Order: sequence, then structure tokens, then C-alpha cells
Amino acid sequence: MTKVASVIHWFRLDLRLHDNLALRNAINEAENRKQILRPIYVIDPDIKNRVGCNRLRFLFQSLKNLDTSLRKINTRLYVIKGKAIECLPKLFDEWHVKFLTLQVDIDADLVKQDEVIEEFCEANNIFVVKRMQHTVYDFNSVVKKNNGSIPLTYQKFLSLVSDVQVKDIIQISKGVSDECKASDYDSQGYDIPSLEEFGVNESELSECKYPGGESEGLKRLDVYMAKKQWVCNFEKPKSSPNSIEPSTTVLSPYISHGCLSAKLFYHKLKQVENGSKHTLPPVSLMGQLMWREFYYTAGSGTENFDKMVGNSVCTQIPWKKNDAHLKAWAEGKTGYPFVDAIMRQLKQEGWIHHLARHMVACFLTRGDLWISWEEGAKVFEDFLLDYDWSLNAGNWMWLSASAFFYKYYRVYSPVAFGKKTDKDGLYIRKYVPELKKYPSEFIYEPWKAPKGVQKTAGCIIGEGYPNRIVDHDKVHKDNIQKMNAAYKVNKEKKAMKRPRQ
Ligand code: FAD
Repeated sequence: MTKVASVIHWFRLDLRLHDNLALRNAINEAENRKQILRPIYVIDPDIKNRVGCNRLRFLFQSLKNLDTSLRKINTRLYVIKGKAIECLPKLFDEWHVKFLTLQVDIDADLVKQDEVIEEFCEANNIFVVKRMQHTVYDFNSVVKKNNGSIPLTYQKFLSLVSDVQVKDIIQISKGVSDECKASDYDSQGYDIPSLEEFGVNESELSECKYPGGESEGLKRLDVYMAKKQWVCNFEKPKSSPNSIEPSTTVLSPYISHGCLSAKLFYHKLKQVENGSKHTLPPVSLMGQLMWREFYYTAGSGTENFDKMVGNSVCTQIPWKKNDAHLKAWAEGKTGYPFVDAIMRQLKQEGWIHHLARHMVACFLTRGDLWISWEEGAKVFEDFLLDYDWSLNAGNWMWLSASAFFYKYYRVYSPVAFGKKTDKDGLYIRKYVPELKKYPSEFIYEPWKAPKGVQKTAGCIIGEGYPNRIVDHDKVHKDNIQKMNAAYKVNKEKKAMKRPRQ
């Protein structure tokens, strides 16, 4: 008996049914040829070494939601445990796969993995369909339009996309017929594993503030788009890094995992803005989405975008290693309450405001600790729910004044910056509870509090809360000099490389 062929849609960073052309292509192919449809997700058991517990929980919640939605259209999610390049060729053979659909991703590890899988497919007559659906624009076309080089400024990027028509998003309109169901449809072997299997004890995690999944993402989008005035008046620099409730949308974890389509967000924003007076990029909400597009375009066209060495857009800076300082920063124990509160919020909740990211990224790199942005990016990769390869690397380069932004002499003060929007330090009191009883006067600089005040507040600096690991007032000035010197060296090297007239 000849085996019925299978069609696979391989979910990765597109954990949704809406705006998923690759998935629709797979469904149509299976329906038209009466083949078996298997939507899959591959999970590498090593993931727990790279992804923090909160993001893992978000991912598993998203997979559960995706499976529920797929079952509503008479199919399911097949979860496969293993490394894609090892287990997929075997499964493709076993399942007699003839057609594979997937979305284009740009994370360097995914790109390498896809090359191996695509080679296998080519050698085994498996037709591959890849769709660009993680961004509003096709970043390859943007680079092509810019004569093959990436736009190095946001304004240049905006000018390149200004006349591009963004197509409407597609929906999956009908269910999958029974003929396309596999005989192992009910097999528990492909069920979503529990977090425990991946070494995570859910009861030990903090309360889940942002549950994963397409349904949650769409709900959150609707809530924000209903606030028409808020959207039209949105100005990012005026939002607060240290409000107790987020002052921006927190759509990022949903967009990064592909639970929410960037294109859908774009169309909804256009609808809200249409006919009303509204703010403009770079500060508007649409402007925020365009920052994402900008970094995707830059990341797609730059080799080693997530590294300093071998990265053509990145200034080479002689950062120093300091494991003790790196650890203190990552654990929120620098002795600077604002910095520590941000890092502790990040670790507990998996999300921090953009300007809070500015503060801690500047502090780790050119501001205070003189540690490489690559180290900071790794810590963010672990803790952020919205971790995204190109956005993380691009923004870290920006903050460390390694690329895109060059005003290295503008340094965030860990004392003054937070005070602008939270003079009584309510945010610090929440995330650094050992300082909860400090008078507002000393909440940003507890080392200045007289011993008696420290005693009354129930926390002696150097005992209940760390001493400052550096003196900002001194080190940031030294670091500006070091940045100045690094910029000079880079300029000279560039000049030497330029062909002589
Ligand atoms: P909103 O202000 O509501 O913006 C809406 C959407 O626009 C966001 O969800 C996001 O998709 C996009 N966006 C907003 N700001 C930026 C930006 N500066 N760059 C690119 N896209 C943006 N964002 C990530 O999604 N993943 C990351 O790994 C990431 N790493 C970062 C690392 C550093 C050091 C810094 C400074 C920023 C980083 N950002 C990252 C960008 C930004 O901080 C977050 O996208 C934003 O704070 C998410 O919150 P929000 O959804 O409420 O944003």
C-alpha cells in the first residue's frame, strides 16, 4: 500500500493562526491533494539552558493556545522534542513529507538550521514554501531598494518604505477536512510537554503578569486600540520608565513570539490614526513599530549583527571583563536602587519599560561598568519575555553608542533619571523592598542617609543592601574619555581602509 504523503507547517516565531500565509499554504496544499496535514513545533531540550523560566512559561502557554486554536479547525499541534536538524529528516522520511511551509526568520541560529533542513528537502524532493510574515515590510526588498546596503538611520529607513503598500492580512477561513487528519492524531506522544519536564517548577515562578498566546495578544491589542485618544497622543519619551503599571502597551512579548502579527498591529494603528490628529514617528506608537522594522532590516543585512567583532556597523570598543560587576548588575545588587529595581523587575516579570532598558544598558556599558554590550544582551536574552534577536542586539548597540547613536557623552544618571517621573521612589520601594521605609530624600541615594536614618528605616547600607559597586560621578567621566579614545581609533582605522585618491 502506498503511504499518503504529508504536508508540514513548521511553527517557529509565528505562533498564531491570523496573518499566517505559510500555514494557509500548507492547509490548502493538504486539502487540494488530499494529503495529511501536520502543523509541528520543534522544542530542543537544551532550551532551558538558553531561555529563562518566565519566557519558557510564556512559550508553553502560547503553544497550548495554538494547539487549542488548531483543534478548533480540526487539526492539532504536533510537538517534537529534539534538535530540528537531527529529528526532522527522520520524521520527514517516516511521514513521507512532500511539502513544507515555514516563515522566514533572521536569528543567525535559525538561519543556519534552515540551511541544513532546506538542503535535505532539496535532496529529497520536498517542496519548501517560505513566507516573510514576522515584519510589516519585506526587509530584503528594503535593502535591495537601498542598493544592497542597510539603511543606517531611522529616517532613511522611513523614506525607503514611505511608498510601500502594506497588504491586508489573511485569515484561515475554513476548517481542515477529516481526510487530512493523520491516524496518530490522538497520540499523546506529540502533546505539549509540561514545564516540569524542562526542569521548571511553576509554583516557584512569580505571578504571571503577561500570559502567552495568540488569544491574549489579540485581546491586549484590542484593549489598547480602543483607547483612541491615548494612541493618537502617544509620545514614547513622555511615557514613564518607573510607573507601577506599564505606561506602554507591552505587546512586545506577543509580537516577538509571533502570537500577534506586526502587520495586524500596523493596520489597526492606521485605522485608529485615520482622520484624527495624531503624533508621528519616531515618538508615536506607529513610530515604535517602525523602530522594530528598522532593526529587523539592519539585522537581516549585517553579518554578525549580535557581536562586536566582525560586525560592520559596530564600533570596536575595548570593553573590560568584570564578572563580579556583571553578576551584581544582573542580580540587581549594584547599590544603585533605581538600577537594581529595574533589574529585579526584569527578572521577576520578564518585561521592563524601554527607558528602563536605556538606564540599565547605559549603566552596564559606557555609563558606569564598562562591560561589553554582548554580556548585557545575553542577560536580557535570558530574562526578557520579548527577547528578539535583532531588536536586542540593535538596541544594545544603540545604548552602548556602538552603532546608530553616537552621543556617548550623554550618560543616564542612576540617581537623577528615575526621580523625574517618580520622585518618592514608589517603584524602588516595590522592587527593592529592603529600602521600603527609606525617606524619599534618600531613596535614590541611600548611602547618603545618616546611620540613624538607616537604622530607623531598618536597613543598613553594606549589610541589608549593598554598597555602591562604583561611584557614578567619577566613573562616568572616565568612561566618556575612554569612549572618546575608542571613537578616535575607529575613525583612524576607517580612514586607513578608505582607498587613496
Ligand atoms: P511600545 O512602546 O508599546 O511599542 C510597541 C511595539 O513597538 C513594541 O511591542 C515593539 O514591538 C516595538 N518597539 C518599541 N520600541 C522599540 C525599539 N526601541 N526597538 C524596536 N522595536 C520597538 N524589544 C523587543 O521586542 N525585544 C528585545 O529583545 C528588546 N531588547 C531591547 C534591549 C535594549 C537594551 C533596549 C534599550 C530595548 C530593547 N527592546 C527590545 C526595545 C523596546 O524596549 C521594547 O520593544 C519595548 O519596550 C516593548 O514594550 P512595549 O511593547 O510596551 O512597547
